[in-house]
Amino acid sequence: MSNLETDPAEVECESARVETSRRELLEPRDVPLGGPRAMQVRRTLPQRSRSLIGAWCFVDHYGPDAVSASGGMVVPPHPHTGLQTVSWLFTGEVEHRDSVGSHAMVRPGEINLMTAGSGIAHSEVSTAATTTLHGAQLWLALPDADRQHPPFFEHFAPEPVVFGGATVRVFIGSLLGSDSPVRVFSPLVGAELTVPAGTSIDLPVDPAFEHGILLDEGTVTIDDVDLPRSHLAYRGAGAGSVRISAGPDGARLLLIGGAPFGERIVMWWNFIGRTHEEIVEYRGAWQSDVIAGGRPDGRFGTVAGYPGSALPAPELPNVRLRPRD
Ligand code: MN
Repeated sequence: MSNLETDPAEVECESARVETSRRELLEPRDVPLGGPRAMQVRRTLPQRSRSLIGAWCFVDHYGPDAVSASGGMVVPPHPHTGLQTVSWLFTGEVEHRDSVGSHAMVRPGEINLMTAGSGIAHSEVSTAATTTLHGAQLWLALPDADRQHPPFFEHFAPEPVVFGGATVRVFIGSLLGSDSPVRVFSPLVGAELTVPAGTSIDLPVDPAFEHGILLDEGTVTIDDVDLPRSHLAYRGAGAGSVRISAGPDGARLLLIGGAPFGERIVMWWNFIGRTHEEIVEYRGAWQSDVIAGGRPDGRFGTVAGYPGSALPAPELPNVRLRPRD
């Protein structure tokens, strides 16, 4: 998905407070994604107190939304740089097209991983058959050494593993002996967990990783502390397991984690760079090459098959923002 905020702030992000076994509760904020019948997302990353968990730098949770009321997801071609997008659905179906020629459906329980690298453009539209849309959009920052990688697209449907009664789908990295083959560029994990009512598990995790756990639906405690819906429980590196106890409704969760990223990044709109000047360059290339049609074979290429115009970039903020943290 795109960050469709009309006036996005430029955010400088770095791994904050790398402190062993630190615990935090990250609250979501509601962000309207624009458009005539704005879809609303609940964003837990980035935020002021913490902008990265491993290389995970963006977490939007949305739905379940009735498409008849929200209009569904209609995101025209838009660019990305320096990141990977992870699309994960709980309900519904989204048609993805991109400028490296991919045309794929995003379906529940299957990861679509798009590596933007030096630059890509894509569109995302919920299909006509979709009446309810419910999912998450996550971004991974690419390390400096890999952020100019040529763009590519991968799809993977993990085989669920059962652990202590919980069903776990590992879509990034390795967990519980299940490995995802999709390519990431720093040590990372990503998984969906469905924990039945009244069930507790001690989930073994990599103690070198920091982790975030997002509650999609149901009721749950993480290490015996309530986790409200759409909130993210943060765990600093150092712990070898996390205790997850589902309440009377059961719980569906997303686990994200990774080695502390250790690089400072600049995020604005749909771009990740290292400096304000790079962001200005990316925006300029998108506007001149694609929006003005000057160079369809430029950095971002062209999305074939989308019946409409590409999304212009918002204006850059007048003031160069001070780094956070
Ligand atoms: Mn996007």
